[in-house]
Amino acid sequence: MDIWDKEKRSAVMAKIRGKDTKPEWIVRRYLFAHGYRYRKNVKSLPGTPDIVLRKYGLVIFVHGCFWHGHGDSHIPHSRIEYWTNKIEANKKRDQRDKAELLRMGWNVLTIWECQLKPAVREQTLKEMEYLINQSYLDLLRKKAERKARRVKNIQAADNHQCIEEKSGHSKNGKPNSQQGYPTPPIPDTLAAEALSQKPGNKD
Ligand SMILES: [Zn+2]
Repeated sequence: MDIWDKEKRSAVMAKIRGKDTKPEWIVRRYLFAHGYRYRKNVKSLPGTPDIVLRKYGLVIFVHGCFWHGHGDSHIPHSRIEYWTNKIEANKKRDQRDKAELLRMGWNVLTIWECQLKPAVREQTLKEMEYLINQSYLDLLRKKAERKARRVKNIQAADNHQCIEEKSGHSKNGKPNSQQGYPTPPIPDTLAAEALSQKPGNKD
């Protein structure tokens, strides 16, 4: 027994089919089928990325070519100025979001709607998978660099403590905070969090 009548059922099915063919869905389905786990539409990050692969330090935007001004997308003949301004504003915002994400330590990948057309889709998805894994290697490299920096700072702090003790200025044997070596801030806290996980879903 169907809970909907025939008309309602076909309307619902059309809606589901429509959703499945959306560019984001093509990408998400591929990722899921290949063992990648992600969060979608993450509002806490600049630009609300469509897909966030935290373990790989990568966010993915799947952009419609018209709205985000890809190449020479067809602009409607009426209200040309209106559309041009709107699309320019979107492009500026995209650039700002991307810069902010990079500053936070994320790698950013933009996939265009036109790159998901059937003729080029497979190629695009394969390239995406390659870039996801490159991003993971990049994350490992950053982690190693951070670790090396931390070790250097600890050594520096130790030396400082010895000097302090000898000179007798320190009451408790610890370097005081003004003269101590501050640990550099780690801006990409989200990426650092991702580092605590190891890839487990993929062979
Ligand atoms: Zn395009």
